[in-house]
Amino acid sequence: MRTVTVVGASLSGLYAARELRAQGFEGRLVIVGDEPHRPYDRPPLSKDFLTGRADEAQLALTDAEETASLDAEWLLGVRARGLDARGRTVLLDDGRTVSTDGVVIATGASARRLPGDRLAGVHTLRTLDDARALREDLTRGPRQVVVIGGGFIGAETASSCAALGHTVTVVEAAPLPLVPQLGAELAAVCATLHRRGGVDLVTGTGVAGLRGTVAVTGVELADGSILPADVVIVGIGARPNTAWLAGSTLALHDGVLCDDGCATALAQVVAVGDVARVGGTRAEHWTSATEQPRVAVANLLAGRTVETMRSVPYFWSDQYGARIQFAGHRQDGDTVRITEGELADGAPAEGGFLAVYERDGRTTAVLAVDRPRPFMRARRELARTESRVQPAAL
Ligand code: FAD
Repeated sequence: MRTVTVVGASLSGLYAARELRAQGFEGRLVIVGDEPHRPYDRPPLSKDFLTGRADEAQLALTDAEETASLDAEWLLGVRARGLDARGRTVLLDDGRTVSTDGVVIATGASARRLPGDRLAGVHTLRTLDDARALREDLTRGPRQVVVIGGGFIGAETASSCAALGHTVTVVEAAPLPLVPQLGAELAAVCATLHRRGGVDLVTGTGVAGLRGTVAVTGVELADGSILPADVVIVGIGARPNTAWLAGSTLALHDGVLCDDGCATALAQVVAVGDVARVGGTRAEHWTSATEQPRVAVANLLAGRTVETMRSVPYFWSDQYGARIQFAGHRQDGDTVRITEGELADGAPAEGGFLAVYERDGRTTAVLAVDRPRPFMRARRELARTESRVQPAAL
């Protein structure tokens, strides 16, 4: 391979570029990113960056020294708009084309939007520019904030807004937020974190629409009631950025379909991070985006799948002063057992807790609140167990 093009200049794209050089690729490396920024870290956007505890410089994922050593051509502020049928030409929005021998698709995901969300005061939170705009809005004195969606980003944003002294309501259409991720029992624990943090949690009610003409004035719920708001954050999930691949021959279905080794049906095209559906699963986690590139690049350079992903899914979330960590493959019907620490009135007691999910006597997943060391031990043990179990059994 003489040229490899990485499309998407963020977390997984940067890790792929690093892996290409680390695994001996000495050819031309082109990195295309539609944001004008060098790679930066997204997790702080809903946490310390929003509250002002971290500034932009602290978000940087790379520095001048590394950029020089990667020896890549960075095409920033330009969107890839197509990949030809053979996966040999990347078409750019500004009319340029990049001829290439290999492609790493690392285009991530975009925030889902709501009709009418172009009103002033309505925000999504995916990019640095989103976070800058929201941060600015939140510095204009006490605000009535409504967060639509009680997922992790919604919960973290609500927590940050509450920490800044704003009045916050979270609206969640399901009876309880985070049930698909954590199961009902431990999702209920997260719900109590909102209430303990002074945030109103409205559940079981969808949103009918946003009120306002130029600026948002309220959120209308499906039951007809209106929550007054001057800042609204739409946190209803993310959509993988695959539209630019519509004319290619790649299989797309809620992400770029890949085998267990991040390889697509074209031997010289791999996909990593939030955009990649690897072996049937698309993760939107920081750790997957940093682990997949090693395997993807090995397979890209080999021209076939010689390695597969073996790691146990992992994510963390920081909200209301608590660190939540989860690892594993939880399923509905798993039983939950608190193995360390305890709950007090449904909320984590001082010192947090460690919980295991079990099925047929086997641990399927682990969750901790403020118990990082026991969690890491349990996560390692889970990885050891899973490596001995046939993937189909998971
Ligand atoms: P992205 O970070 O989405 O990057 C993709 C890049 O490709 C973007 O710059 C995008 O603009 C660009 N792009 C898209 N289309 C094109 C195109 N056609 N041409 C060129 N460029 C394109 N995970 C955790 O595990 N824990 C957390 O606490 C956590 N907190 C988070 C908080 C926030 C606010 C957000 C948004 C995410 C958080 N995540 C967290 C998830 C984590 O940040 C993502 O999993 C990670 O960013 C995925 O990296 P990626 O490179 O695959 O995709």
